[in-house]
Amino acid sequence: MDRISLAFFAAALTFTQRLPAQGRPVTPADDAAGQAWWAHIKTLADDSMEGRLTGSDGYLRAAKYVVGQFDSAGLRPAGINGYYQPVKFDVTRVLADKSSVTLSAGGRDVPLVLGQDAILGARGTQPKSIAAPLVFVGYGLHLPEANYDDLDSRDVPFSSLKGKIVVYINGGPADLPAALKSFARTSPLEKALADAGVVGSITIPTPKSMDFPWDRVAANASQPGMRLAADPKDAEVAARHPALANLHRTMFSATFNPAEAEKLFAGSGHSFAELLALADAQKPLPRFDLKKSLTASVTTENSAVESPNIVAQLEGSDPSLKKEYVLVSAHLDHLGTTTPVNGKTVFAGAMDDASGVASVLEIAKSFSQNRERPKRSMLFVIFTGEEKGLLGSRYFAGRPTVPETAIVADLNMDMFMPIFPLKKLHVQGLVESTLAADARAVGAEHNIEIAVDPEPDRNSFTRTDQYSFVQAGVPALAMKFGWAADSPEYKAWRQWLAHRYHSTEDNLSQPVDTAAAAQFDSFLGDLARRVANSAGRPHYVESSFFHRFEK
Ligand SMILES: [Zn+2]
Repeated sequence: MDRISLAFFAAALTFTQRLPAQGRPVTPADDAAGQAWWAHIKTLADDSMEGRLTGSDGYLRAAKYVVGQFDSAGLRPAGINGYYQPVKFDVTRVLADKSSVTLSAGGRDVPLVLGQDAILGARGTQPKSIAAPLVFVGYGLHLPEANYDDLDSRDVPFSSLKGKIVVYINGGPADLPAALKSFARTSPLEKALADAGVVGSITIPTPKSMDFPWDRVAANASQPGMRLAADPKDAEVAARHPALANLHRTMFSATFNPAEAEKLFAGSGHSFAELLALADAQKPLPRFDLKKSLTASVTTENSAVESPNIVAQLEGSDPSLKKEYVLVSAHLDHLGTTTPVNGKTVFAGAMDDASGVASVLEIAKSFSQNRERPKRSMLFVIFTGEEKGLLGSRYFAGRPTVPETAIVADLNMDMFMPIFPLKKLHVQGLVESTLAADARAVGAEHNIEIAVDPEPDRNSFTRTDQYSFVQAGVPALAMKFGWAADSPEYKAWRQWLAHRYHSTEDNLSQPVDTAAAAQFDSFLGDLARRVANSAGRPHYVESSFFHRFEK
């Protein structure tokens, strides 16, 4: 090669590297693998699986299918009872027609219409009756480590919260890191409210932050809520991982329809419209007394159910590293059935998350068929109870079926959305651990751009099973097909959320790019193999807030 063409080549190379990743061309192998992937979804999201509600017959049938697939792929059971790790749940169903909520101020009562004005929470234990004053606490963020505390301000000090119901708007000021805001909504809030003696909480979503309209929020309110049942190991798990502590506290909880939220603020000297404008601009919110009280009587139906996680193992090849495990995971449960919506009664959950389970099965099969074993062992884990608050993964992270310190990483898939070609992945947890470098290296091999979540206020970071591992100090990633702002792909994603997410339309008749799903599986398999083969374990980076959970 002469000098001039060399220079030209170098320039062309630089130019190529500056172009955004474009994915790989689809091959016949991708097509075939995509069909194999889709075949699992056709089974798991079939009407006969009845929406795979945690603990239901349909869930157990789907679990049997998964076990059969692991078994025929030559994997080994690694649960407690064969492949299964049984998990016990307390179940609460709120009977809205036998419950009532009233706001009272200055001798005037405003009864609320449940479903239209607000819905009652089913995840915690509701009191049978309650009467308490309401106080507005901004975003409800308690983050003393970031010098930010909505629960302890000059206007509403922490010591004044005892016996009150706190009201807050979902969101947070722009200058707090997104993952930290999401984190603050989980165990730290629960603990701070308990410490303050708060007796209830009302959250108001902002219309901008809602994935789908209020009528679907209201329709899902009759879903049974679940909690992990109290367990003799609770204290031990909480001592090791305070963030995974199982708090069994009675507390009133409700979500208010933002379109009706002026009812809460009337007479307080503030309007919801004014607060919403501040929240949409991610500005600080005031905290103040709402000058009214809430009276409620709540009727619930309580029961118990058992539903298993599923754990399969592939032994690594290195005599010493094989004692460690890389997890690839997804959740099997979904929302069960409903009264007919457009003639459909089954929440099929094809993308959420039969798609992820199908990928775990295909990745497990390809590891098993590959003669070259990874150095570390692989653990393929299918969770129950995700839709009820990441409960199956929380149980597993606190009580793994392999030695806890042997788990080096979790790579999770939850509706990874192969509805357009794969060029880019949005990755949860990317800025937290050294797994980012692995994801970027494997992404470069596959010509896939690796990027952070551009919509952190959707709180996906804490709404996906990988978060249970973050709380246990295990480096973890979860990923979805990425898009560019205002692109056709972005529109497809938003339309999917608005029309199909947690609706009966997330079914087998939606358009799916099966070849792109196969390309994703190939990427994730390569990523898992890289982590399993690397000399050192992945770890949290010093700058990560979640570094503190690492042992
Ligand atoms: Zn879901």
